[in-house]
Amino acid sequence: MNKKNKSLSALEERLKFFEEIGADFVFRSGVLNQRAPLRSRPEVPSPAVGAPSTAPGRSGSGLDLPSSGRNLETIAAEVRACQKCGLAAGRTLAVPGEGNPKSQILFIGEGPGHDEDVQGRPFVGRAGQLLTKIIAAMGFERSEVFIANIVKCRPPENRVPHRDEAEACAPYLLEQIAVLRPRVIVTLGKTAADFFLPNVKAMSSIRGVFQEWHGLPLMPTFHPSYLIRNEGNKEIRKMVWDDMQKVMALLAGG
Ligand code: URA
Ligand code: SF4
Repeated sequence: MNKKNKSLSALEERLKFFEEIGADFVFRSGVLNQRAPLRSRPEVPSPAVGAPSTAPGRSGSGLDLPSSGRNLETIAAEVRACQKCGLAAGRTLAVPGEGNPKSQILFIGEGPGHDEDVQGRPFVGRAGQLLTKIIAAMGFERSEVFIANIVKCRPPENRVPHRDEAEACAPYLLEQIAVLRPRVIVTLGKTAADFFLPNVKAMSSIRGVFQEWHGLPLMPTFHPSYLIRNEGNKEIRKMVWDDMQKVMALLAGG
């Protein structure tokens, strides 16, 4: 696709998404002019997946966790072979996460569902299609951001991961974050929010409000599955869009 067609199709995706969430307020709020700058800051050398991490010198992230110095592919390979918790027995493929290693945004969901388990890729089912639309509406392509989950293997019947499973899997996510050094984390749904903010009782008290985690801004928002379960509820979609606008404004702010 040439550049013009690419931006046209991005615009088309945004318009479709705006239409779905009720375009009137979107146009009134003038968000079309608020696109955040692109993922890769030119001053940062670009470590290809597989190259050693340049994390310690990376600017722009306030993260106060040291990087392991490993790269995302090494971590992913370890995840694919992992047997550290009971979820290993029921999986088809582990889902380490994917995206641009230089992404400024990291989206974190709960755990793989059926489609993800079959493909070994995060957010490729129905919820994933909606997440992809949200990302497109923010002005990004999926490949420009990074997407991961709390647990890397599918829980049976898509149940919420147990605490011991999330704890067993946590070192992978923490290492991914330390290597990625994003500027902002977006948690999708309660499981992901609970992981980072274990003392917070209700999603309603934190959703849409930047939280701080190890020096990083973290935006808790609803899970796309929740939007799907409440299809037709424009209020919930508007809330998610409001949250994403805050993320875009933060990135645009330098
Ligand atoms: N839901 C999630 O939380 N993660 C996925 O990867 C897919 C659906
Ligand atoms: Fe390992 Fe995480 Fe899969 Fe459990 S869920 S087997 S800890 S990769």
